[in-house]
Amino acid sequence: MELQGKNVFITGSTRGIGLAMAKAFAQQGANIVLNGRKEISEELITEIKNFGVNCIGLSGDISDFSSAKQMIEQAQEQLGDIHVLVNNAGMNNDKLLLRMKEEDFESVLKVNLTGTFNMTQPLLKKMLKQKQGVIINMASVSGLTGNVGQANYAASKAGVVGFTKTVAKEAASHGITCNAIAPGFITTDMTDVLSDKVKTQINETVPLQRLGNPEDIAQTAIFLAQNPYITGQVISVDGGLTM
Ligand code: NAD
Repeated sequence: MELQGKNVFITGSTRGIGLAMAKAFAQQGANIVLNGRKEISEELITEIKNFGVNCIGLSGDISDFSSAKQMIEQAQEQLGDIHVLVNNAGMNNDKLLLRMKEEDFESVLKVNLTGTFNMTQPLLKKMLKQKQGVIINMASVSGLTGNVGQANYAASKAGVVGFTKTVAKEAASHGITCNAIAPGFITTDMTDVLSDKVKTQINETVPLQRLGNPEDIAQTAIFLAQNPYITGQVISVDGGLTM
């Protein structure tokens, strides 16, 4: 897909991987819908507009179906058809399973997995009419291999993988692709909380010997959006962690 002039909705794009993706898509000439739970600052919107594209900010909680649906409607009213949806917003709340409360489990599932459904379903209805669309979901290596302290997060991301492959199968005949990216350890607020000791251990475990950058993920999203013959795939971007 030629991204110039296309409209791209990226959830959780106020910082980290989502913001890097917003800048990468804007650099390709795409108009951007920024989203986060809190109000989107005018500075951030201007920063994206400085790429010479249109940009709007829609704050709202993706874990709430009516809020997600409303954001899709607002985006379409303000920009026109949405061509690319990146379900990037996510959260973690790590603890060992024996210490995990029901609400610790459910709250992570509600954002990472149900939030992906909440955004995708209302937009897919519109994409089916458009006979065109790209959906990119954010999974994680944790969802592929499991990770100590992440039973909730890993389960949500494994769910995202199953969701991705199913949407890909249901939408393929309408020219819509759906893929997932499974990042390893990427330097964002989410991994900022890790101690230097843990970061050193990660660097020793990762074959490419470093944490990834948000831009490593952003470039993969661009690649997927530009390739209409790739669908139902999970691309690991993890420095070789899962090879
Ligand atoms: P981050 O914590 O830096 O940013 C998360 C973004 O999501 C923020 O903009 C936040 O406002 C938004 N968000 C969270 N809950 C939301 C909700 N309910 N509604 C709307 N917006 C919400 O995270 P990040 O590290 O940039 O991660 C982005 C995605 O990549 C997540 O899905 C995460 O699980 C995944 N991921 C990250 C890593 C990593 O190492 N950083 C690894 C694997 C997967």
